[in-house]
Amino acid sequence: MPELPEVELTRRRLERELAGKEIERVESRAAKLRLPIPVELATVLTGRTIRSVGRRGKYLLFDCEAGWLVVHLGMTGFLRHLHDPSPPGKHDHLDIWLTDGSVLRFHDPRKFGTVAWTQGDPLAHPLLAGIGPEPLTPAFDGAYLFRVSRSRTVAVKLLIMNAAMVAGVGNIYANEALFRAAIRPDRPACSLTQEECDRVVHFIREVLSESIEQGSTYRVAEATVAYHPLEFAVYGRGKGNCTRCNGPLEETRLGGRSTVFCPRCQR
Ligand SMILES: [Zn+2]
Repeated sequence: MPELPEVELTRRRLERELAGKEIERVESRAAKLRLPIPVELATVLTGRTIRSVGRRGKYLLFDCEAGWLVVHLGMTGFLRHLHDPSPPGKHDHLDIWLTDGSVLRFHDPRKFGTVAWTQGDPLAHPLLAGIGPEPLTPAFDGAYLFRVSRSRTVAVKLLIMNAAMVAGVGNIYANEALFRAAIRPDRPACSLTQEECDRVVHFIREVLSESIEQGSTYRVAEATVAYHPLEFAVYGRGKGNCTRCNGPLEETRLGGRSTVFCPRCQR
């Protein structure tokens, strides 16, 4: 699943390739992904220029002059900018043709992605309005996490994965950040001290930043149109040993998601 770093890298790539390009026509081949694809897309986008590509949480925001194209990649969504496109395949649901002959193609085998259109402030759109602060901005700091966790007995891992608390911290990053912070993922959020909140925030930012710098936690394979996860200290290593103390890692489930931690190093 594309996580925040993959979405940010997609944003950078598409901004570089698409900013200033004019839309010639739109071909939609699916009525619905997670939500219906807006029927007016062809009408509102034709003749418009893509001014920029932004991001909020895991949503991509294409400024198309008359409004904003809002795209979420869901579980398996992939956006490609193709200069010499092959005919669309079964899972290529949307083509946005540009006047230079290239195409922006949305591919999504499982159809959990979202394509929306809004003429108002995209940040006020119902899909985006409730998203918490961006993890890589100063608005997300230890004081913030301490404040919002005081009345919450939920496991700290679930709190930091709640998009209303902080945008786009997925399962992989929550596992890794809590390992680096030496905090057990099942600790009640309200039991964390200010100093522990500082640590959690620091390491969330660190794992996300490293991942973006290294080209994401996934190998993005354009040829096969897929994301392949790389290796982590704890995520996906439930049967392995701790890279710090060499003791056995423990695997459990929190909120239905695989949770791996070291019972010796994480308290
Ligand atoms: Zn350990």
